[in-house]
Amino acid sequence: MHLEDMKKEIERLVVSKGFYNKPEDVPKKLLFAFIELGEASDAWKKGESQEKIAEELIDTIFYILDASRLACPDVNMDDMFQWKLSKNLGRPYQYGEGHRSKQL
Ligand SMILES: [Mg+2]
Repeated sequence: MHLEDMKKEIERLVVSKGFYNKPEDVPKKLLFAFIELGEASDAWKKGESQEKIAEELIDTIFYILDASRLACPDVNMDDMFQWKLSKNLGRPYQYGEGHRSKQL
């Protein structure tokens, strides 16, 4: 399943369950994505199963794609993924991680 297919499935879920579904709800959805990341981190720290950690990471993806559906509906997320991957592949080795070479 591709990201655009996932967005459609998530919209179906959101509508059928009566969840927030307006552009002004985007900040809430992004906050929920952070909360799910915290749940994933907590599961990892507690040594929970890989399935539990993966479930929380998928919850995060759900909220991110749901937010994208409302925040940037005209952007094809599959195309954006490819564009961003190409952009990052074109960057130098360990880009953005200059802190690695600094002595603390
Ligand atoms: Mg969760």
